[in-house]
Amino acid sequence: MVEKVIQLKCKCNEYPWGRIGRESLAATLCEKTPGTDFKLDEKTPYAEMWMGTYPELPSYVLSTGEDLQDVLDRHPDELIGKTVAQKFNHTKLPYLPKVLSIAKALPLQLHPNKDLASELHAKKPDQFTDPNHKPEIALALGDFEAFCGFKPLKHIQRLMELPPLQAFMPRVKKPDFDDQTLKHVVKAMLEASDDAVRKTNDALMDLPKEQFGEDTYIPEMIPRLSKQYDKSDNGTLVALVTMNYLQLKKGDSIYIPADGIHAYLSGDIIECMARSNNVLNTGFCPRADRDSVDMFTSCLTFTPHDAKECMLPSESFKKSKNGKSKLYAPPLSEFNMYATSLADGESDTIGKIDGPSVMIVTEGEGTLTADGKEYKLSAGYIFLIGQGTEIELKASKALEAFTAFAE
Ligand SMILES: [Zn+2]
Repeated sequence: MVEKVIQLKCKCNEYPWGRIGRESLAATLCEKTPGTDFKLDEKTPYAEMWMGTYPELPSYVLSTGEDLQDVLDRHPDELIGKTVAQKFNHTKLPYLPKVLSIAKALPLQLHPNKDLASELHAKKPDQFTDPNHKPEIALALGDFEAFCGFKPLKHIQRLMELPPLQAFMPRVKKPDFDDQTLKHVVKAMLEASDDAVRKTNDALMDLPKEQFGEDTYIPEMIPRLSKQYDKSDNGTLVALVTMNYLQLKKGDSIYIPADGIHAYLSGDIIECMARSNNVLNTGFCPRADRDSVDMFTSCLTFTPHDAKECMLPSESFKKSKNGKSKLYAPPLSEFNMYATSLADGESDTIGKIDGPSVMIVTEGEGTLTADGKEYKLSAGYIFLIGQGTEIELKASKALEAFTAFAE
Protein backbone atom coordinates (compact mmCIF):
# COMPACT_ATOMS: atom_id res chain seq x y z
CA MET A 1 0.00 0.00 0.00
CA VAL A 2 1.27 3.42 -0.92
CA GLU A 3 0.75 6.48 1.27
CA LYS A 4 -1.90 8.77 -0.16
CA VAL A 5 0.00 11.92 0.80
CA ILE A 6 3.54 12.24 -0.50
CA GLN A 7 5.75 15.20 0.31
CA LEU A 8 7.76 16.43 -2.67
CA LYS A 9 10.88 18.39 -3.43
CA CYS A 10 10.95 20.53 -6.55
CA LYS A 11 13.45 22.56 -8.52
CA CYS A 12 13.75 26.07 -9.94
CA ASN A 13 14.86 27.05 -13.40
CA GLU A 14 17.07 30.08 -13.91
CA TYR A 15 15.66 32.11 -16.78
CA PRO A 16 17.08 35.66 -17.00
CA TRP A 17 13.68 37.27 -16.29
CA GLY A 18 13.52 35.71 -12.80
CA ARG A 19 14.00 37.60 -9.56
CA ILE A 20 17.51 37.50 -8.15
CA GLY A 21 18.52 35.33 -5.19
CA ARG A 22 16.34 35.70 -2.10
CA GLU A 23 14.08 38.22 -3.86
CA SER A 24 12.72 35.24 -5.77
CA LEU A 25 9.77 33.62 -4.01
CA ALA A 26 10.23 30.56 -6.21
CA ALA A 27 13.76 30.14 -4.87
CA THR A 28 12.97 30.89 -1.22
CA LEU A 29 10.09 28.39 -1.25
CA CYS A 30 12.45 25.83 -2.76
CA GLU A 31 14.98 26.62 -0.06
CA LYS A 32 12.38 26.14 2.69
CA THR A 33 11.43 22.66 1.56
CA PRO A 34 13.06 20.51 4.26
CA GLY A 35 15.74 17.99 3.40
CA THR A 36 16.64 19.24 -0.08
CA ASP A 37 20.08 19.84 -1.53
CA PHE A 38 18.98 23.16 -3.07
CA LYS A 39 21.55 25.90 -2.40
CA LEU A 40 20.25 29.38 -3.11
CA ASP A 41 22.81 31.62 -4.82
CA GLU A 42 22.31 35.35 -4.16
CA LYS A 43 23.32 36.37 -7.69
CA THR A 44 21.30 33.89 -9.73
CA PRO A 45 17.92 34.80 -11.23
CA TYR A 46 15.36 32.16 -10.21
CA ALA A 47 12.30 32.22 -12.44
CA GLU A 48 10.04 29.21 -11.97
CA MET A 49 9.62 26.34 -9.57
CA TRP A 50 7.81 23.45 -11.27
CA MET A 51 5.62 21.06 -9.29
CA GLY A 52 4.71 18.06 -11.38
CA THR A 53 6.05 15.29 -13.51
CA TYR A 54 6.97 17.10 -16.72
CA PRO A 55 10.34 15.49 -17.65
CA GLU A 56 12.20 18.78 -18.10
CA LEU A 57 12.01 19.64 -14.39
CA PRO A 58 10.37 16.77 -12.49
CA SER A 59 9.47 16.59 -8.80
CA TYR A 60 10.92 14.00 -6.44
CA VAL A 61 9.62 12.17 -3.38
CA LEU A 62 11.21 13.93 -0.43
CA SER A 63 11.73 10.86 1.75
CA THR A 64 13.27 8.59 -0.91
CA GLY A 65 14.54 10.88 -3.67
CA GLU A 66 12.59 8.87 -6.24
CA ASP A 67 11.18 10.55 -9.35
CA LEU A 68 7.49 11.11 -8.60
CA GLN A 69 6.49 9.67 -12.00
CA ASP A 70 8.04 6.31 -11.03
CA VAL A 71 5.81 6.17 -7.96
CA LEU A 72 2.73 7.14 -10.01
CA ASP A 73 3.58 4.39 -12.49
CA ARG A 74 3.74 1.80 -9.70
CA HIS A 75 0.50 2.93 -8.02
CA PRO A 76 -1.70 4.46 -10.73
CA ASP A 77 -5.01 3.31 -9.21
CA GLU A 78 -4.33 4.63 -5.72
CA LEU A 79 -2.77 7.96 -6.75
CA ILE A 80 -4.08 8.97 -10.20
CA GLY A 81 -7.28 6.92 -10.18
CA LYS A 82 -9.27 5.37 -13.00
CA THR A 83 -11.31 8.47 -13.89
CA VAL A 84 -8.30 10.64 -14.69
CA ALA A 85 -6.27 7.79 -16.22
CA GLN A 86 -9.14 7.06 -18.63
CA LYS A 87 -9.90 10.68 -19.38
CA PHE A 88 -6.32 11.49 -20.39
CA ASN A 89 -5.23 8.03 -21.43
CA HIS A 90 -2.10 8.16 -19.28
CA THR A 91 -1.04 8.00 -15.63
CA LYS A 92 0.81 11.28 -15.54
CA LEU A 93 -0.32 14.47 -13.86
CA PRO A 94 -2.45 16.26 -16.49
CA TYR A 95 -1.42 19.69 -15.17
CA LEU A 96 1.74 21.52 -14.21
CA PRO A 97 1.61 24.08 -11.38
CA LYS A 98 4.49 26.52 -10.99
CA VAL A 99 5.57 29.41 -8.77
CA LEU A 100 6.86 32.28 -10.91
CA SER A 101 8.95 35.20 -9.62
CA ILE A 102 9.10 37.81 -12.34
CA ALA A 103 11.61 40.69 -12.38
CA LYS A 104 11.09 41.77 -15.99
CA ALA A 105 8.88 40.98 -18.97
CA LEU A 106 8.68 37.37 -20.05
CA PRO A 107 8.84 36.77 -23.79
CA LEU A 108 5.71 37.89 -25.64
CA GLN A 109 4.14 34.53 -26.28
CA LEU A 110 1.29 32.25 -27.14
CA HIS A 111 0.79 28.54 -26.58
CA PRO A 112 -0.38 26.74 -29.71
CA ASN A 113 -3.69 24.85 -29.79
CA LYS A 114 -3.74 21.03 -29.90
CA ASP A 115 -3.73 20.74 -33.71
CA LEU A 116 -0.78 23.04 -34.23
CA ALA A 117 1.02 21.62 -31.18
CA SER A 118 0.89 18.07 -32.53
CA GLU A 119 2.01 19.28 -35.97
CA LEU A 120 4.96 21.18 -34.47
CA HIS A 121 5.83 18.30 -32.13
CA ALA A 122 6.01 15.92 -35.09
CA LYS A 123 8.24 18.31 -37.06
CA LYS A 124 10.48 19.68 -34.31
CA PRO A 125 10.29 17.43 -31.23
CA ASP A 126 13.36 19.08 -29.66
CA GLN A 127 11.68 22.48 -29.51
CA PHE A 128 8.05 21.38 -29.11
CA THR A 129 8.38 18.61 -26.55
CA ASP A 130 4.75 17.43 -26.43
CA PRO A 131 1.64 17.45 -28.66
CA ASN A 132 -0.62 19.13 -26.12
CA HIS A 133 -2.22 22.58 -25.83
CA LYS A 134 -1.41 24.71 -22.81
CA PRO A 135 -4.24 26.84 -21.47
CA GLU A 136 -2.96 28.50 -18.30
CA ILE A 137 -4.04 30.52 -15.31
CA ALA A 138 -2.00 32.98 -13.29
CA LEU A 139 -2.99 33.74 -9.72
CA ALA A 140 -1.43 36.82 -8.13
CA LEU A 141 0.33 36.32 -4.79
CA GLY A 142 0.87 40.09 -4.50
CA ASP A 143 0.94 42.98 -6.99
CA PHE A 144 1.18 41.49 -10.46
CA GLU A 145 1.45 43.25 -13.84
CA ALA A 146 0.70 41.51 -17.11
CA PHE A 147 -0.07 42.14 -20.75
CA CYS A 148 -2.89 39.83 -21.67
CA GLY A 149 -5.20 39.52 -24.70
CA PHE A 150 -6.09 42.45 -26.94
CA LYS A 151 -7.72 45.75 -26.15
CA PRO A 152 -11.16 46.35 -27.67
CA LEU A 153 -10.85 47.10 -31.40
CA LYS A 154 -12.20 50.66 -31.13
CA HIS A 155 -9.62 51.37 -28.48
CA ILE A 156 -6.73 50.09 -30.65
CA GLN A 157 -8.11 51.94 -33.67
CA ARG A 158 -7.99 55.21 -31.71
CA LEU A 159 -4.37 54.65 -30.71
CA MET A 160 -3.42 53.68 -34.27
CA GLU A 161 -4.47 57.18 -35.38
CA LEU A 162 -1.40 58.58 -33.61
CA PRO A 163 1.00 59.72 -36.36
CA PRO A 164 4.00 57.53 -35.32
CA LEU A 165 1.82 54.40 -35.65
CA GLN A 166 0.40 55.11 -39.13
CA ALA A 167 3.16 53.12 -40.81
CA PHE A 168 1.86 49.89 -39.24
CA MET A 169 -1.64 50.26 -40.72
CA PRO A 170 -2.62 48.45 -43.94
CA ARG A 171 -2.00 50.62 -47.00
CA VAL A 172 -5.55 50.13 -48.20
CA LYS A 173 -7.73 51.08 -45.26
CA LYS A 174 -10.96 49.19 -44.76
CA PRO A 175 -13.91 51.12 -43.38
CA ASP A 176 -13.90 48.98 -40.24
CA PHE A 177 -10.95 48.29 -38.03
CA ASP A 178 -11.55 44.57 -37.54
CA ASP A 179 -9.53 41.56 -36.40
CA GLN A 180 -7.92 41.28 -39.84
CA THR A 181 -6.70 44.87 -39.54
CA LEU A 182 -5.39 44.08 -36.07
CA LYS A 183 -3.59 41.02 -37.39
CA HIS A 184 -1.92 43.19 -40.03
CA VAL A 185 -0.90 45.72 -37.37
CA VAL A 186 0.56 43.06 -35.05
CA LYS A 187 2.45 41.45 -37.92
CA ALA A 188 3.80 44.79 -39.16
CA MET A 189 4.97 45.68 -35.64
CA LEU A 190 6.68 42.31 -35.21
CA GLU A 191 8.36 42.48 -38.62
CA ALA A 192 9.58 46.07 -38.24
CA SER A 193 13.33 46.63 -38.27
CA ASP A 194 15.24 47.57 -35.10
CA ASP A 195 15.59 51.08 -36.42
CA ALA A 196 11.89 51.50 -37.21
CA VAL A 197 10.87 50.24 -33.75
CA ARG A 198 13.37 52.53 -32.02
CA LYS A 199 12.19 55.58 -34.01
CA THR A 200 8.54 54.78 -33.33
CA ASN A 201 9.18 54.46 -29.60
CA ASP A 202 11.07 57.77 -29.59
CA ALA A 203 8.27 59.49 -31.50
CA LEU A 204 5.62 58.11 -29.11
CA MET A 205 7.59 59.39 -26.12
CA ASP A 206 7.69 62.86 -27.72
CA LEU A 207 3.90 63.10 -28.05
CA PRO A 208 1.92 65.05 -25.44
CA LYS A 209 0.49 62.59 -22.89
CA GLU A 210 -3.13 63.67 -23.50
CA GLN A 211 -2.97 62.17 -26.98
CA PHE A 212 -2.95 58.67 -25.43
CA GLY A 213 -6.40 59.13 -23.88
CA GLU A 214 -6.81 56.64 -21.02
CA ASP A 215 -3.52 54.94 -21.95
CA THR A 216 -1.08 57.49 -20.53
CA TYR A 217 0.97 54.57 -19.23
CA ILE A 218 2.22 53.94 -22.79
CA PRO A 219 4.83 56.73 -23.04
CA GLU A 220 5.79 56.12 -19.40
CA MET A 221 6.40 52.45 -19.93
CA ILE A 222 8.54 52.69 -23.08
CA PRO A 223 11.69 53.62 -21.10
CA ARG A 224 10.99 50.88 -18.55
CA LEU A 225 10.62 48.13 -21.18
CA SER A 226 13.54 49.55 -23.22
CA LYS A 227 15.77 49.17 -20.17
CA GLN A 228 14.69 45.54 -19.74
CA TYR A 229 15.32 44.59 -23.36
CA ASP A 230 16.02 47.35 -25.86
CA LYS A 231 14.20 50.29 -27.43
CA SER A 232 14.30 48.26 -30.65
CA ASP A 233 12.42 45.27 -29.20
CA ASN A 234 9.31 44.61 -31.30
CA GLY A 235 7.45 43.33 -28.25
CA THR A 236 7.23 46.85 -26.82
CA LEU A 237 4.95 48.17 -29.59
CA VAL A 238 2.65 45.14 -29.68
CA ALA A 239 2.29 44.98 -25.90
CA LEU A 240 1.72 48.69 -25.30
CA VAL A 241 -0.47 49.59 -28.27
CA THR A 242 -2.56 46.46 -28.87
CA MET A 243 -2.69 44.50 -25.60
CA ASN A 244 -4.49 44.95 -22.30
CA TYR A 245 -2.21 46.12 -19.50
CA LEU A 246 -3.42 44.62 -16.23
CA GLN A 247 -2.44 45.51 -12.68
CA LEU A 248 -3.66 42.73 -10.42
CA LYS A 249 -3.82 42.44 -6.66
CA LYS A 250 -3.28 39.41 -4.43
CA GLY A 251 -5.97 36.81 -5.11
CA ASP A 252 -6.81 38.10 -8.62
CA SER A 253 -6.46 35.59 -11.40
CA ILE A 254 -6.27 35.63 -15.19
CA TYR A 255 -6.91 32.91 -17.73
CA ILE A 256 -4.98 32.51 -21.01
CA PRO A 257 -6.76 30.36 -23.62
CA ALA A 258 -4.85 28.32 -26.22
CA ASP A 259 -3.40 30.69 -28.86
CA GLY A 260 -3.93 33.69 -26.53
CA ILE A 261 -1.26 36.41 -26.60
CA HIS A 262 0.33 37.30 -23.26
CA ALA A 263 3.47 38.58 -21.55
CA TYR A 264 3.80 38.76 -17.78
CA LEU A 265 5.67 41.80 -16.54
CA SER A 266 6.32 41.65 -12.80
CA GLY A 267 5.30 39.96 -9.58
CA ASP A 268 5.05 36.60 -7.83
CA ILE A 269 2.35 34.28 -9.08
CA ILE A 270 1.09 30.74 -8.94
CA GLU A 271 0.66 29.53 -12.46
CA CYS A 272 -1.06 26.35 -13.53
CA MET A 273 -1.27 24.94 -17.02
CA ALA A 274 -2.15 21.81 -18.90
CA ARG A 275 0.66 19.30 -19.14
CA SER A 276 2.64 21.02 -21.88
CA ASN A 277 5.68 23.16 -22.47
CA ASN A 278 4.94 24.42 -25.99
CA VAL A 279 5.41 28.10 -26.64
CA LEU A 280 5.87 30.49 -29.56
CA ASN A 281 7.88 33.60 -28.65
CA THR A 282 8.18 36.83 -30.62
CA GLY A 283 9.29 39.75 -28.52
CA PHE A 284 10.96 40.57 -25.18
CA CYS A 285 13.71 38.14 -26.08
CA PRO A 286 16.74 38.13 -28.39
CA ARG A 287 15.91 37.89 -32.11
CA ALA A 288 17.61 34.48 -32.25
CA ASP A 289 15.10 33.08 -29.72
CA ARG A 290 12.04 34.22 -31.66
CA ASP A 291 9.77 31.95 -33.63
CA SER A 292 8.62 32.97 -37.08
CA VAL A 293 6.32 36.00 -37.13
CA ASP A 294 4.21 34.29 -39.80
CA MET A 295 3.58 31.29 -37.62
CA PHE A 296 2.92 33.45 -34.58
CA THR A 297 0.38 35.72 -36.26
CA SER A 298 -1.29 32.91 -38.19
CA CYS A 299 -2.35 31.12 -35.02
CA LEU A 300 -3.15 34.17 -32.89
CA THR A 301 -6.63 34.14 -31.42
CA PHE A 302 -8.45 37.44 -30.98
CA THR A 303 -10.20 36.51 -27.78
CA PRO A 304 -10.09 37.90 -25.21
CA HIS A 305 -10.65 41.36 -26.65
CA ASP A 306 -11.12 43.20 -23.41
CA ALA A 307 -9.30 43.39 -20.08
CA LYS A 308 -12.41 42.17 -18.23
CA GLU A 309 -12.54 38.99 -20.28
CA CYS A 310 -9.00 38.08 -19.18
CA MET A 311 -10.08 37.81 -15.55
CA LEU A 312 -10.90 34.46 -13.99
CA PRO A 313 -13.03 35.17 -10.91
CA SER A 314 -12.95 32.67 -8.04
CA GLU A 315 -16.07 30.65 -7.20
CA SER A 316 -17.25 29.00 -4.03
CA PHE A 317 -15.79 25.50 -3.80
CA LYS A 318 -18.38 22.86 -2.95
CA LYS A 319 -15.80 20.44 -1.54
CA SER A 320 -14.58 23.05 0.98
CA LYS A 321 -16.57 22.20 4.13
CA ASN A 322 -15.78 25.43 6.02
CA GLY A 323 -15.74 27.66 2.94
CA LYS A 324 -12.11 28.67 3.46
CA SER A 325 -11.06 27.47 0.01
CA LYS A 326 -12.03 29.19 -3.26
CA LEU A 327 -12.16 27.53 -6.64
CA TYR A 328 -10.52 28.79 -9.83
CA ALA A 329 -11.97 26.82 -12.73
CA PRO A 330 -10.67 27.84 -16.17
CA PRO A 331 -12.88 26.95 -19.16
CA LEU A 332 -11.74 24.27 -21.64
CA SER A 333 -9.00 23.02 -19.44
CA GLU A 334 -7.64 19.85 -17.88
CA PHE A 335 -7.34 21.23 -14.38
CA ASN A 336 -8.81 23.38 -11.63
CA MET A 337 -7.15 25.04 -8.71
CA TYR A 338 -8.32 25.89 -5.21
CA ALA A 339 -6.79 28.46 -2.91
CA THR A 340 -7.05 27.94 0.85
CA SER A 341 -6.70 30.87 3.20
CA LEU A 342 -6.83 30.16 6.96
CA ALA A 343 -6.42 32.60 9.85
CA ASP A 344 -4.68 31.44 13.06
CA GLY A 345 -6.59 28.48 14.48
CA GLU A 346 -8.94 28.06 11.50
CA SER A 347 -9.41 24.85 9.57
CA ASP A 348 -10.97 23.53 6.38
CA THR A 349 -11.84 20.06 5.19
CA ILE A 350 -11.70 19.28 1.50
CA GLY A 351 -13.91 16.40 0.40
CA LYS A 352 -12.63 13.57 -1.79
CA ILE A 353 -11.43 14.54 -5.25
CA ASP A 354 -11.66 11.91 -7.97
CA GLY A 355 -8.11 12.50 -9.20
CA PRO A 356 -4.65 13.58 -8.05
CA SER A 357 -3.90 16.96 -6.40
CA VAL A 358 -0.69 18.90 -5.92
CA MET A 359 -0.58 21.37 -3.03
CA ILE A 360 1.96 24.04 -2.19
CA VAL A 361 1.99 26.06 1.02
CA THR A 362 3.22 29.60 0.39
CA GLU A 363 2.73 31.11 3.87
CA GLY A 364 2.09 30.13 7.47
CA GLU A 365 2.17 26.96 9.55
CA GLY A 366 -0.21 24.16 10.33
CA THR A 367 -1.11 20.55 9.72
CA LEU A 368 -2.67 18.40 7.05
CA THR A 369 -4.53 15.30 8.21
CA ALA A 370 -5.42 12.55 5.77
CA ASP A 371 -5.95 8.81 6.03
CA GLY A 372 -5.41 8.99 9.81
CA LYS A 373 -1.97 10.55 9.46
CA GLU A 374 -0.82 14.07 10.24
CA TYR A 375 1.68 16.01 8.15
CA LYS A 376 3.33 19.32 9.06
CA LEU A 377 2.56 22.32 6.81
CA SER A 378 4.89 25.27 6.37
CA ALA A 379 5.90 27.62 3.52
CA GLY A 380 7.70 25.65 0.81
CA TYR A 381 6.04 22.33 1.72
CA ILE A 382 4.66 20.60 -1.36
CA PHE A 383 2.49 17.48 -1.46
CA LEU A 384 0.98 15.08 -3.92
CA ILE A 385 -2.41 13.97 -2.62
CA GLY A 386 -3.70 10.75 -4.15
CA GLN A 387 -7.21 10.49 -5.61
CA GLY A 388 -10.18 9.89 -3.31
CA THR A 389 -8.55 11.35 -0.20
CA GLU A 390 -10.37 13.70 2.15
CA ILE A 391 -7.97 16.12 3.80
CA GLU A 392 -8.22 18.44 6.78
CA LEU A 393 -6.08 21.56 6.87
CA LYS A 394 -5.47 23.40 10.17
CA ALA A 395 -3.55 26.61 10.64
CA SER A 396 -1.49 27.34 13.74
CA LYS A 397 -0.23 30.50 12.00
CA ALA A 398 -2.18 32.19 9.14
CA LEU A 399 -1.83 29.79 6.24
CA GLU A 400 -2.04 30.09 2.45
CA ALA A 401 -2.03 27.04 0.22
CA PHE A 402 -2.73 26.46 -3.48
CA THR A 403 -3.82 23.13 -4.87
CA ALA A 404 -4.08 22.06 -8.49
CA PHE A 405 -6.29 19.08 -9.25
CA ALA A 406 -7.99 17.17 -12.03
CA GLU A 407 -10.95 14.83 -11.91
ZN1 LIG B 1 2.47 31.44 -21.10
